[in-house]
Amino acid sequence: MPIQSINPYTNKVIKSFEEDSEDKVNQVVELAGDTFRFWKKTTFTHRSELMRKTAKILRAKAQVLAKLMAQEMGKPLKEGIEEINKCALTCDYYADNAEKFLQDEVIQAEGTKNLLIYQPIGAILAIMPWNFPFWQVFRFAAPTLMAGNVGLLKHASNVPQCAMAIESIFLEAGFPQGVFQTLLVGSDKVEKLIAHDYVQAVTLTGSEAAGSKVAALAGKYIKKSVMELGGSDPFIVLPDADLDYAAQMAVKGRMINTGQSCICAKRFIVFQNVADKFTQLMTNYMLKLKMGNPLEEGVDYGPMARQDLANELVDQVKRSVDKGAVIVTGGGRPVREGAFFNATILTNVRPGTPAYEEEMFGPVAAIITVRDEEEAIAIANDSRYGLGGSVWTKDLKKGEAIARKIESGFVTVNDIVKSDPRLPFGGIKKSGYGRELSHLGIREFMNIKTLRIK
Ligand code: NAP
Repeated sequence: MPIQSINPYTNKVIKSFEEDSEDKVNQVVELAGDTFRFWKKTTFTHRSELMRKTAKILRAKAQVLAKLMAQEMGKPLKEGIEEINKCALTCDYYADNAEKFLQDEVIQAEGTKNLLIYQPIGAILAIMPWNFPFWQVFRFAAPTLMAGNVGLLKHASNVPQCAMAIESIFLEAGFPQGVFQTLLVGSDKVEKLIAHDYVQAVTLTGSEAAGSKVAALAGKYIKKSVMELGGSDPFIVLPDADLDYAAQMAVKGRMINTGQSCICAKRFIVFQNVADKFTQLMTNYMLKLKMGNPLEEGVDYGPMARQDLANELVDQVKRSVDKGAVIVTGGGRPVREGAFFNATILTNVRPGTPAYEEEMFGPVAAIITVRDEEEAIAIANDSRYGLGGSVWTKDLKKGEAIARKIESGFVTVNDIVKSDPRLPFGGIKKSGYGRELSHLGIREFMNIKTLRIK
């Protein structure tokens, strides 16, 4: 795929970019290695100062950066501004907490002193997706740089301007050149990067297919890796739930970023005695959403990020309908320019249906009806993925008991799944491994060294 900004609202190319040459890539990686040698020795106080400056710059530029996202991948302005503010919050969070998270830990064992200490390891390669072009990068970069590691970014090929903007923001904040660098390269260059001695670890956020390839490379070169991959999160509605609120949140949870989020609720598992009412309520809320130009005020959802993605979704919906799914609303692409897809609800979704088995990465909700709690849990867990999930009930004890039985990395009761810098984030099964954010995220790429003094 060429490195190009294409506005998905108009399908017009905004700008094309030359891939970085082999020489340039080598220079960048060499600089990362050289920079690490002194960056790892800087103090937390110094790094925190720069990270707080980064947060300030992000807040000051929120409007401009949101516009860039709207143009490169179709995110409505108001969601873009929220994304940038969340990046700023995360920079502040790690500026405040990194030192505490990486403090020495004393372990009681034989000898005078036994310690667990955290030390940075070098350059960390981040391979990132286009769907939250700033957030995915900052949730990696803030802890990584605060920990004393240096970052290399290979962003998705359709968001090069966001990628370059991120590097500029870190430079503007005063981070020395080489602490965070963007590479404009395609995925065929990733193996060479992972193989390089200066690159000590790789983190990928993206599809299962990309995760499998990059994890294999990490294995080949014995590099630590974190994989944040796809999801098909269950949203379980019990009969005693506040149905109106659950339906409202179902639409919010499904439609964030035009349905293109790994932790969007995707499979709505509803008790059959409330399914009709819930479907009606959800449809009403879905129909209230305004589709349109992501740069215009009041638009709730924009085009999908690329034409090919919208076309893939058409195919998934068609195959689902062929297998018996029923379209309640939407069901395909409107006749207009841009990578649009109408907000869609499918019912009668059963095992074997693509909407049940596959990740639907766009504005399509699949409603699955169940008889009881046992079936609800079985269906929730009948997925190759295990990223998020939610349970909706007024009985909080029961909600927690069900949440404990869901096979995934993050389950909520009466709330949609949202990442938060304070809470660990990551998946199991084909949703990947490792954790980002919180105290756990910052420790993923550290040498957890044992120090024993006899
Ligand atoms: P993608 O096609 O897998 O791309 C993600 C990144 O991986 C891009 O930078 C891409 O580069 C690169 N890539 C793709 N194939 C590669 C390969 N063989 N070797 C090395 N790098 C490769 O995913 P996407 O379409 O951008 O994003 C959607 C997917 O990401 C969904 O499945 C979604 O659920 C998942 N996601 C997960 C999380 C999470 O936190 N778990 C968050 C967001 C998204 P190019 O663009 O150059 O191909």
